[in-house]
Amino acid sequence: MADRTKTCAGCGAPLTFMSTPNLGAGYLKDGGRVCRRCFARIVKVEPSFGLRSRKDHSTATIRGLLHPAPARSGSAAGEGPVAPDKDRPEDPVPICLAALQTGRNKSGALEAARQARRLWWVVDVSEKEYRMEELLAMLELRSFILASAAAVFVWNGEFNTADRIQPEFIHREALWNGERREAVELYLIHLIFQEQWERLEAIFSDQAFCSAFLDYHDLFMSVRDPHHAFRSPQDAFLATVNKVNTYCVQIGRKRLI
Ligand SMILES: [Zn+2]
Repeated sequence: MADRTKTCAGCGAPLTFMSTPNLGAGYLKDGGRVCRRCFARIVKVEPSFGLRSRKDHSTATIRGLLHPAPARSGSAAGEGPVAPDKDRPEDPVPICLAALQTGRNKSGALEAARQARRLWWVVDVSEKEYRMEELLAMLELRSFILASAAAVFVWNGEFNTADRIQPEFIHREALWNGERREAVELYLIHLIFQEQWERLEAIFSDQAFCSAFLDYHDLFMSVRDPHHAFRSPQDAFLATVNKVNTYCVQIGRKRLI
């Protein structure tokens, strides 16, 4: 298991920080994971992949999407891979995630974030009976999506909208650890980019949150004051600084520290 998550299930390329989709995206139900390039290709033909990869997709299904069997019929050549379904509305979540990962499509991401918020603000559980674990998984997914949308709102300077969404995800401890933590990290990073010091102070005034994100508290304090004495372990703090600086380069802005 450890090994197969180090190479892309689609193309076999090694999964490095730069080639791995952010935010814990791209995992498959068989434990495999795809690289950023394959992720982008799959989302083109299967827009819900970003959201459902872990639930609905395996190495076999994504290879089918990436390398569709050649059509045997006499149809015209050059049709390319599976055509996207024109009638299906595009899933806004992968649009938000891709924009956050690349720093491109800022206004498209804002529109998608609004749509994601509308879709996920109220989760309708009336249609089918959910087991408790399914319900919890859905609430965690909802928090992850709202956190990602909030990061897009902050990126676009829509702080009041982000403020209204924030309570829906910031205290959900399921997001504090594990791969979905990156949604909260991105939210904090974008608040730092926008120098929202009072908002950050309010967030970190919660002791439990501050302990769980002490490295980000140190990052925020260090950006404000280069002489800040960090409180998180040095290696954890440096790893976070490196990660955030790599993210800065990835989206084409200058390093934070
Ligand atoms: Zn790949």
